[in-house]
Amino acid sequence: MNPATGETLRDLAADSPDAVAGKVEKARRAQAEWARTPLDQRRKAIAVFAGILEKNKDDLAARLTSEMGKPITQSRNELTALQSRLRFFLDNVEKAIAEEVVHEKEAWREVITYEPLGLVGNISAWNYPYFVGSNVFVPALLTGNAVLYKPSEFATLTGLAITDAMHAAGVPAAVFAPVVGGGEAGRALVEQPLDAVFFTGSYATGRQIAEAAAPRLMKVQLELGGKDPVYVADDVDVVAAAKATADGAFYNTGQSCCAVERVYVHERIHDAFVDAFVAAVEGFVVGDPMDEETYIGPVAREAHLRVLEEQVADAKARGARLRLGGERLDRPGFYFAPTVFADARPTMALMRDETFGPLIGIQKVKDDEEALRLMNDTEYGLTAGVYTRDEPRARRLLAGASSGSAYWNCCDRVSPRLPWTGRRHSGLGVTLGFAGLRAFVQPRAWHLRQPK
Ligand code: NAD
Repeated sequence: MNPATGETLRDLAADSPDAVAGKVEKARRAQAEWARTPLDQRRKAIAVFAGILEKNKDDLAARLTSEMGKPITQSRNELTALQSRLRFFLDNVEKAIAEEVVHEKEAWREVITYEPLGLVGNISAWNYPYFVGSNVFVPALLTGNAVLYKPSEFATLTGLAITDAMHAAGVPAAVFAPVVGGGEAGRALVEQPLDAVFFTGSYATGRQIAEAAAPRLMKVQLELGGKDPVYVADDVDVVAAAKATADGAFYNTGQSCCAVERVYVHERIHDAFVDAFVAAVEGFVVGDPMDEETYIGPVAREAHLRVLEEQVADAKARGARLRLGGERLDRPGFYFAPTVFADARPTMALMRDETFGPLIGIQKVKDDEEALRLMNDTEYGLTAGVYTRDEPRARRLLAGASSGSAYWNCCDRVSPRLPWTGRRHSGLGVTLGFAGLRAFVQPRAWHLRQPK
């Protein structure tokens, strides 16, 4: 469905549990041969895949925008930035899976080899399908696994385009098999005899998947949501910090796992900051996501409009001050006005539950200690950011903040060179970075003794 219009783009049949089982069986047979394929050949296939995406960038961006409403410039940005992620994996995979001799003395050698996990189920999200998908299926394939890839039902056309590109690049169809459908198809996949399941999505679904996978003790990795805080200290350039954090909160219409979800501002600059923040958000162009000028499009899922309305109603009832927006826009499609609340409080749903839309709360704090206490007042732990000119002050605060990523004078950012990981309700395990390649292999310990 096109969220900008509410119109159906295409009807697709979901895979039945039997169809899923058939794909898993074929993948199991094909995986051993893929693992034996020389690494250079697997790398070549991924390099060709990267080239196909680059060549078709404009069409692929338009497809993504049409099915989940991401503004077209942001869809192109995702595809552009994907190239350096793919390059990171291509450049580092050899080192990640190379045999290691860790001890050599007299007749003894101790050696570690890294072997593929085998069959990897990848259940994915719609908000950055190229990024979050590639974090899993690219290193999985490079290290010799077969992948059953279930794109989100809100980004299926993109998932199928990814699949076509992978097959055209030389990855055998059975080694990278798409599973089409929603929660039912995902459930059917997790019931299969997989070796690992890598999931990107909400805490609620992630928990269900971990529970379903538990009896078989397969490896489970979860990249989940966040309620990511940013603290703006009293020594910043107020307008610059307001612009940067507004972008971090509203990019991709607020639908990023690492979007800024809570803003705490030192009382000395609070009023000026809120005015500058509201001015920045007022400057965002809301409109047709296919339009080059648009910065905020519709939200991807119609049902989510109600979640946003409930957070607005709760914030108002608990005394927050509405500075901008606050309701659906009166136009076709799933549009919500960019919304800013000042005087937010920790008890408000807006400051506790993942918002995942164009809506933000700002709270005044009296000092760094109060800011840190509030930043940590959450079940989530994906990212945390501090804006200040003073690096030791930022490092001290961020050392006390419990999150997988720590940002000084930046936010809403992911690097392929760094591990991407969430704490508590934000997930389990690591993608990206060197550890994100190792996540797809299992070590094997070799005890080797020369005969006398
Ligand atoms: P979701 O949990 O609704 O769905 C994710 C996927 O799970 C979809 O493919 C869906 O079809 C499937 N699914 C649903 N129920 C299932 C079940 N019972 N068994 C198996 N599969 C099932 O999440 P979403 O709306 O697609 O994504 C938004 C969420 O993802 C947000 O919470 C966001 O923060 C999070 N996210 C996290 C990261 C990260 O890197 N940490 C990245 C992107 C998105």
